[in-house]
Parts: sequence; C-alpha cells; structure tokens
Amino acid sequence: MKIIMLGAPGAGKGTQAKKIAAKYDIPHISTGDIFRANIKNNTELGQKAKTYMDKGELVPDSLVVDLIMDRFKEADCANGYVLDGFPRTIPQAEALDEALKASGAKVDFAIDVEVPDENIINRMGGRRACVGCGATYHVEFNPPKQADVCDTCGQKLILRDDDKPETVKNRLNVYHEQTQPLIDYYQNAGVLKQVDGTKDMNDVFTDIVDILSK
Ligand code: ADP
Ligand code: ADP
Ligand code: ZN
Repeated sequence: MKIIMLGAPGAGKGTQAKKIAAKYDIPHISTGDIFRANIKNNTELGQKAKTYMDKGELVPDSLVVDLIMDRFKEADCANGYVLDGFPRTIPQAEALDEALKASGAKVDFAIDVEVPDENIINRMGGRRACVGCGATYHVEFNPPKQADVCDTCGQKLILRDDDKPETVKNRLNVYHEQTQPLIDYYQNAGVLKQVDGTKDMNDVFTDIVDILSK
C-alpha cells in the first residue's frame, strides 16, 4: 500500500502517518525528519537544506527527489510506505508518478488532513519534538508523561525553530501556494480522500482506517 499524507504544516500528518505505519507494518517516510537528521549530523545535504528550512521555504525539488528515490531502494519499502511531507510540489508529484509508473505501481491513497489556518498557529506553538528519536508531542493535546522529556527514549523535547509563529506564517503561505495544488492533482488521479483533522487525533485515525480498509 502506497499512501501519501497531504495537509498544512501542523495538520497532523506525522501523527497519523506514524499510526498508519504501525498498524499496516509499512515504513513512515518523512522528508522533514530525514533533513533534520542530516542537519544534526552536519552532512552536506543537511547544510544545504537548513538554509531553506530556517526561513520556512521549501528545499529545492531536485534535492528532495534524489533523496526520496534513494530511500525507496531500501528493502523495507517492498510492501509500500506512508509518505509524510512528500510530495510538496507538482514537480515532486510528477517525479513520484514517473518513478512508480516505471515499476508498474501507483499511489493508492492521498489522504488530505484538513485543518483551517486559524488552528494551525496554536498547534505549532505547542508542538514538541524529541531530539533523540523524533517523537512528536503537544503540550496540551498529547503531553509527555514528564514535561519536556520523551516517553520513548528519555531525551529532551524541544520547540522546533521553524515552529515559531513568524516562520509558521511563512510556511502556511508556502503551503497554500505550492502544496495545496496537489489536492486537485490527486483528486484528478482519483485517489484523494479527505479527513477532518480538527477532531481528536484518535478519531482522525479511525476515519483514516475506514478509508484504507475499503
Ligand atoms: P511539517 O511536519 O510541519 O509539515 P516537515 O517536517 O514536513 O514540516 O518539513 C519541515 C521543512 O523541511 C519544510 O518547511 C521544508 O523546508 C523542508 N521539506 C520537507 N519536505 C520537503 C519537500 N518534500 N520539499 C521541499 N522541502 C521539504
Ligand atoms: P504535521 O506532521 O502535519 O506537521 P504533526 O503530526 O507533527 O503535524 O502535529 C502537529 C502538532 O499538533 C503536534 O504537536 C501534534 O501532537 C498535534 N496534533 C496532531 N494531531 C492533532 C489533533 N487531531 N488534535 C490536536 N493536536 C494534534
Ligand atoms: Zn525520543
């Protein structure tokens, strides 16, 4: 099963993608997580990506496409995957389609997690990410057992630099300009499914499981 998560920054793509990955035993592939791991390890790719990420802009398509094509070659992708944060532009979606077509495959579901902009700024201010394992929490909606400490690995939780309100506003603009057109793209491909992302995260997941089991 090949699944794409669509939605604004903070809509809950990562939260839902992790649950889908666990239930269906497929890898959760987040381009944002891959870039952050590269920044942490100070690789050349990380240094390039950071200049864009810090401003809330998109990393150039060529960098992202090369990265994801490499990732698809790994053995765990044999039974599909859930993509979180890719594709984010029409050229990225076209590159994905081309690559899949070459192996006679296609995207099975594009799940759009809908959350209005008004809700996003609040959500992002409360998001906390683990520096160790990348787990995501929310101070109000999904708090860790102990403040600022990861339940899973015990390391520190931080507010991502690009989750500060000024950068979030820019990321929302970038989303509307460059990523939202993918909703029509996947609608036309006949694979778009929309879920109400303002519901409780467990209810959103129930709605997604309903869609995937049809
Ligand atoms: P969020 O989870 O809030 O939607 P991500 O972790 O997916 O954010 O992405 C963080 C940043 O990483 C983006 O603002 C962008 O700079 C970069 N990035 C991640 N995925 C892509 C992509 N597919 N194309 C271009 N830039 C990307
Ligand atoms: P995205 O990957 O789309 O950027 P995340 O999954 O990281 O979004 O979620 C953004 C923040 O909102 C996180 O702090 C997460 O815990 C929280 N969150 C996710 N889904 C919900 C929901 N349905 N209701 C309230 N908060 C949520
Ligand atoms: Zn952790």
